[in-house]
Amino acid sequence: MHELSIAIEITEIAEEAAKAEGAESISKVELEIGILSGIELDALKFAMTEAIRNTMLENSEIVYHVIKGLAVCELCCNEFETDDHFKACPYCNSLQTNFLKGKELNIKTIDIEINA
Ligand SMILES: [Zn+2]
Repeated sequence: MHELSIAIEITEIAEEAAKAEGAESISKVELEIGILSGIELDALKFAMTEAIRNTMLENSEIVYHVIKGLAVCELCCNEFETDDHFKACPYCNSLQTNFLKGKELNIKTIDIEINA
């Protein structure tokens, strides 16, 4: 399952970042998932509940931000929102478009707890 390996990677990155700060646990992780990233949000949510078991993220709140697709047309330079990889420019019908947003998978923030 594609999403499980992603979930494990997210968990490892968050744990490493928290350990580097000397944290005891992670209270919250915010993720940004582009609508064009190829990741199924529900599958990722399910995979995260598996991946965080027995890790520093076990009791963390995990927040998912879905990023809408934004493309720019190479011919007329207009920007337009899209949820589709193969959508033509709505201004000039060109298929020469580049994505500006929507393909990302980022860890936006990691909130850590440091016990004195
Ligand atoms: Zn155009």
